[in-house]
Amino acid sequence: MPNLPEELVLDILKRIGRHDYRDLGPFIAASKETMNLVFSREVLSSVDLSNFLCQSSMVNKDSRFRKFFISCVEHGNVMANQLEGLRILCQEGPTEAAFSMLQLSPAHSIYAPFVVGIFKICAGQFETGMRTLLQMWDNVDAWEEAVHIADMVIMQIVDMGPARSGLYFSSYSYPVDDIPHCTYISCAADNVCEECFAFWYSLIIRSIC
Ligand SMILES: [Zn+2]
Repeated sequence: MPNLPEELVLDILKRIGRHDYRDLGPFIAASKETMNLVFSREVLSSVDLSNFLCQSSMVNKDSRFRKFFISCVEHGNVMANQLEGLRILCQEGPTEAAFSMLQLSPAHSIYAPFVVGIFKICAGQFETGMRTLLQMWDNVDAWEEAVHIADMVIMQIVDMGPARSGLYFSSYSYPVDDIPHCTYISCAADNVCEECFAFWYSLIIRSIC
């Protein structure tokens, strides 16, 4: 596209990227000019990273996609910030930077309040964690949606490769009085109800990170 004005090329790249980041590959390879345009805030802030959601190990530090991915994070891409926030929380431990990355998410997000809420509980901030999870319930239409997101996050953590070093062993404390009664009678980690959702998922995170 050597003769097109830069503004138009940028607009074309933005549209292509919003469909799928993989379609930008040829433009990265084409020339230094188009590569610089692909790596611009205009394109990377809105590029679609759905593929990273299902293959979350692509965000890891040793991944060949890392340079591209971290540019997306730095340019404010919401999906990239969600995944980088989750990566830090499950591989390195709780930091304000990680929680802030997740908070870039839109107000109607289910993903961000789930991750922030459940990791805050693990990090020893039970009240804040439960309050954040309440935001998630406000955005959920059907109960299954919450379980679906929660299971997806657990799969993403497993795919990234959590620390497995007991990052949250010492900070985790679920108040005994708040442990729902159903956990002793009917529910289990693979069969949760709305009452014991936070209890089981925080316990899973604690045990795998
Ligand atoms: Zn239950």
